[in-house]
Amino acid sequence: MKKIYLDNNATTKVDEKVLDEMMPYFKEGYANPSSMYDPARESAKAIETAREKVADFLGAKSPGEIIFTSCGTESANTAIKGVIEKHATSENNHIITTQIEHPCVLAPYEFLAKKGYEATYIGVNENGELNIETLLSKISQKTVLVSIMHANNETGAVYPVEELSKEIKKRNKNTKVFVDGVQAAGKIPINLKDTEIDFYSISGHKFHAPKGVGALYVKKGNLFEPLLHGGHQENLLRAGTQNTPYIVGLGKASELAKNYLEYENTEVKRLMKKLENGILSTVKNAKLNSKSQKRVPNTTNIGFEYIEGELILLYLNDLGIYASSGSACTSGSLDPSHVLRAQKTPFTSLHGSIRFSLSRYTTEDEIDYALENIPKVIEKLAKISPFQKELTALFPNN
Ligand SMILES: *Cc1c(COP(=O)(O)O)cnc(C)c1O
Repeated sequence: MKKIYLDNNATTKVDEKVLDEMMPYFKEGYANPSSMYDPARESAKAIETAREKVADFLGAKSPGEIIFTSCGTESANTAIKGVIEKHATSENNHIITTQIEHPCVLAPYEFLAKKGYEATYIGVNENGELNIETLLSKISQKTVLVSIMHANNETGAVYPVEELSKEIKKRNKNTKVFVDGVQAAGKIPINLKDTEIDFYSISGHKFHAPKGVGALYVKKGNLFEPLLHGGHQENLLRAGTQNTPYIVGLGKASELAKNYLEYENTEVKRLMKKLENGILSTVKNAKLNSKSQKRVPNTTNIGFEYIEGELILLYLNDLGIYASSGSACTSGSLDPSHVLRAQKTPFTSLHGSIRFSLSRYTTEDEIDYALENIPKVIEKLAKISPFQKELTALFPNN
């Protein structure tokens, strides 16, 4: 049976070239990079080479601005809790974020709100675009931290974090800006040295490195309290023996992602558009949820009116087509997506919303197969939907 993986915002396949670079550090290159002998120095050197590659990929001013972590979630928690621990006071206790963040930002905000911090959540319009005027109007002398994602994992909407970081600093130069860049890395260009972003997170497994490694960019001069206290690794900012093979993998994946950026924005985008336009033009109850003017090239989110999303996923699964009803972190719960609710997606398509996310491994044949089968699945499910009256209006010939 065919296996068509269209869930690349949940995780990606490890690139063979990444794996090849990692392998020696599982074998002969196992020395602890903090030790003093030659093999250890070699591990340490490999880590520094990876740091240079990640810094180059993100457009950092220097490799010293990159800290390796275990994942995107750790990077976000480090930035958010680390800024609060270092900079918040009883007067400066206001934190801002958006309603459409990933749980790795929303949950720390909820944690801080419970402890008494004043949290503001900025909404989006019906296209999923951020209410920028509202956001900027909320910044006061009390605002310690603003967190905004660069690209949304469910809809692919891109937020203008470069300009926003500058506007935020104009209103309060002491406000720290954290950007969750996990879904942007490898899909759209970023040049952090030209921005006022203080912290930026990435995760290896979202761009063809393995699960279990991430990084946090910390603009030079920014102080924060580390999440992990222990050894002297990562310049005392992230204790724990460095994961040499995975860090080397993240470095290689960053180098490759920089080179594939053009391909993502031409070929991957073309295939995404082919899938999206194909579904929208053949499936009568399909409604586009990814309506933002700016969007990453690999993601489309489509709602199928009056049909249950989990059922669509099960039927697609049986055909070897793998997609998602939103964030992998919330699947398993039947609550509709907080991102789609924030953009006021009508309830008729909210529960039948499916995210298709492509990668540089997606082929034309796979998209053709998906386009052949998705309309059939929807038609089948329309026949057993409890909303017959509404659907008959949409499919009068059935
Ligand atoms: C996947 C994801 C994360 C979490 O990264 P992990 O490495 O899985 O912890 C954070 N933010 C966004 C937008 C994501 O898509």
